[in-house]
Amino acid sequence: MEQRNQELDKIIELLSTTPSEELFALADRVRHDHVGDEVHLRGLIEFSNICRNNCLYCGIRRDNNQVKRYRLTEEEIIETARRAIDMGFKTIVMQSGEDLYFDRKRLSHIIKKIKKDDVAITLSIGERSGGDYKAFRDAGADRFLMRIETTDKDLYHRLNPNMSWQRRYECLMMIKELGYELGSGIMVGLPGQSIESIAQDLLFLKKIGIDMAGIGPFIPHPATPLAHESGGTLDLALRTMAVMRLLMPDINIPATTAMESLHPQGRIKALQAGANVVMPNMTEGEYRQLYELYPGKICVGDTPTHCRSCIALKIQSIGRTIGTGHGSHKRL
Ligand code: SAH
Repeated sequence: MEQRNQELDKIIELLSTTPSEELFALADRVRHDHVGDEVHLRGLIEFSNICRNNCLYCGIRRDNNQVKRYRLTEEEIIETARRAIDMGFKTIVMQSGEDLYFDRKRLSHIIKKIKKDDVAITLSIGERSGGDYKAFRDAGADRFLMRIETTDKDLYHRLNPNMSWQRRYECLMMIKELGYELGSGIMVGLPGQSIESIAQDLLFLKKIGIDMAGIGPFIPHPATPLAHESGGTLDLALRTMAVMRLLMPDINIPATTAMESLHPQGRIKALQAGANVVMPNMTEGEYRQLYELYPGKICVGDTPTHCRSCIALKIQSIGRTIGTGHGSHKRL
């Protein structure tokens, strides 16, 4: 207990007093020493913006009737994945709202088809039953990404009406138990979230032994109840990410899209402050802008091919290389 408190105090100190440049340089060195200079690219497919949940922060929440809803067909999803694989992606991330149209049978079928190629599949589809998670794993899904969002349970329940923090936690445990590589993470700058609470989040992520940590700033969406909140800053999101790298030196950490939405060089800054993964958007056409979790989302008018080469140039410009393997978490 004593030790835990000491670690918590240390994290709070790092988050609140260490100068950013110092913290970023330290995290960059730890990243270099433990996971090297390769940046792993993951091709992101946002396959449905239909969602049964009503998270106060999220632009595709159920009650937002200003958003045009879409759902890609099975063929479209498989086709998009194939194109990404042809472009050289070794991981496909399938993300959506909690859309139960993609039930056990449908999603398993899609996973199996994509897995005919040599590629890792990450699912990011929210809370399901243990049976569903098992079926998707059996179908070939390798990884699962689901942020805990915050470990402050009161805050979680205020922000996620009709959802249960305990249930989300249990889902994460089931996912881990099934042998998926587990990704989780948080948003930074949520209304009422303190530095101490963020420090607790980081300790939690370390304790459950995640393989990947997605940390991004909360960006208020105008069509949500949190429209007038101030949101998170890039600096605090980067600082939190950098401390995560110090706490878990060998995990995968993405430079998140939300960071780039706050600053044109957001992802590059992140790659130089502890991150080693980027997830370029492979969704086609108008769907890119319809999957609007927050405003100011980058590259909504671009094509997947453009995104792939744009990020490759940025990565090379800072002296890093693009990973050629699946980029799994290797525990050292
Ligand atoms: N339905 C899936 C995918 C959620 S969307 C799931 O529940 O896991 C992916 C992530 O986007 C969320 O976990 C959340 O952390 C982030 N997000 C949602 N709204 C946001 C906002 N307004 N600003 C920044 N990030 C947001």
